[in-house]
Amino acid sequence: MPINDTNTIAGLLSRARCVQLAQYMIDGARPGSIAALWINLDRFQQVNHSFGYTGGNKILSIIANRLELATGNGVHLGHMGADEFLCLLPTEGLSQAVALAEHIMTMLEEPIMLNETKLHPVARIGIALLEPDEDSVSLLQRADQAMYLAKRNGKRWLQAEGDITAASGSCSILANTELEIESKLHQAIESGGLSLHYQPILRKDGSIDAVEALMRCTVNGRDISPTLFIPVAEKTGLITRLGEWTMSQGAIFARQLDEAGYPIKVAVNISRAQLLAPHFSQALSSALIYAALPADRLELELTESLFMDMSPTVQENLCDARAAGVGLAIDDFGTGYSCLANLKDIHAAKLKLDRAFAIALPEDSRAFAIVKAMTRLGQELGMTVVAEGVETKEQMHALLHAGVDAAQGYLYARAMSGDDLLAWLKVHKKKHVACVRKLSHDSLVR
Ligand code: C2E
Ligand code: MG
Ligand code: MG
Repeated sequence: MPINDTNTIAGLLSRARCVQLAQYMIDGARPGSIAALWINLDRFQQVNHSFGYTGGNKILSIIANRLELATGNGVHLGHMGADEFLCLLPTEGLSQAVALAEHIMTMLEEPIMLNETKLHPVARIGIALLEPDEDSVSLLQRADQAMYLAKRNGKRWLQAEGDITAASGSCSILANTELEIESKLHQAIESGGLSLHYQPILRKDGSIDAVEALMRCTVNGRDISPTLFIPVAEKTGLITRLGEWTMSQGAIFARQLDEAGYPIKVAVNISRAQLLAPHFSQALSSALIYAALPADRLELELTESLFMDMSPTVQENLCDARAAGVGLAIDDFGTGYSCLANLKDIHAAKLKLDRAFAIALPEDSRAFAIVKAMTRLGQELGMTVVAEGVETKEQMHALLHAGVDAAQGYLYARAMSGDDLLAWLKVHKKKHVACVRKLSHDSLVR
């Protein structure tokens, strides 16, 4: 699969291009002669929450324009994802880089009018000057670290001093690994290190409701968790390609299950960025046609954060999927951005309750009351309610008492390769048949 190098803000370089360009500038340059300025906006999430993604995107393009005005020729500008930008420039030393940072901050912090609300953007900047024998990834990471430290310490800008990883604490270490994860993700794409694992979802009677396809990424024999690489793929735009691959592999696996005598639905996770792409419906129908799979054997899992901003493209894509017969499920419900008003507009067939609820059971009576209410609500809306992350019998007992229809979790099975799942299904089928026989025998005897 070729590397997707697209960027959402016209005219600015993508992350991958920034890394390449920085390396090109570094080759043959003397220490201190190249500066990287990593720029981040404060409270950008709040803008997204209050004005939706459309408002957020408007702000980002205003900021990008201002950056172009604030920096002249010879300064390269990149969009590193979400509200993060980068300036790369040849410099005579720290004072020149700091002067530019201050000028940028003054320009960016001019108020912005959005839907009659005056917003006051606040920018934080991390500055890194080229160290001896340093490569581009390290230079950019240090600029990113310095920005996080500036943010944490309430400073407007901060200069990275040598390797500050040890002093920077976990939040910046997380941020700093992003470039590394991105590079590993590209490596995995090129070397066939991506795969899908499958985790079954069981109904109350022990029959299989569906299997969820979960992406796995392995580089040099080491696994990277999806909780790390999915956000990076989303930030960089790679998720669109990965998502298409997942849909098509998931559909092929559903066909294989069918051929093996298990007509089971496969659920795939869909990120918001995928649904924003106008060709989503086309990719979905191609996946179904290629696998010769009936549409009702595929299910799309959507996180509720998606529903905060149902743009016309998202609505159209979801409508097309439903019209084609593909099922929709609301994933991780009850924690993130649950908005009950949205539930009435989304015609999903399944509601998956976030793992956070199962963890709290059976001890937490308040969590139990919430699960019971959410289950009732989901069922009233005609949805199958699934509890996620069930690990113990005690949790399952409480969840059944609360009325859930199905469950997914380590108690039954972890996510496993396609071959392992086929073997698991064989054993499970035997157990299930024996159990159903025993139940009907018991009821006859009684
Ligand atoms: P999710 O869709 O909510 O998937 C369920 C996650 O919970 C999976 O983690 C699964 O392995 C884990 N899980 C299942 N049962 C248990 C349990 O009993 N205990 C615990 N502690 N965990 C359990 P995983 O595979 O690490 O995936 C994490 C998240 O990454 C997924 O959450 C999903 O949001 C995202 N993801 C995974 N694959 C894809 C993909 O192909 N596309 C997209 N867009 N996102 C994906
Ligand atoms: Mg899911
Ligand atoms: Mg989930």
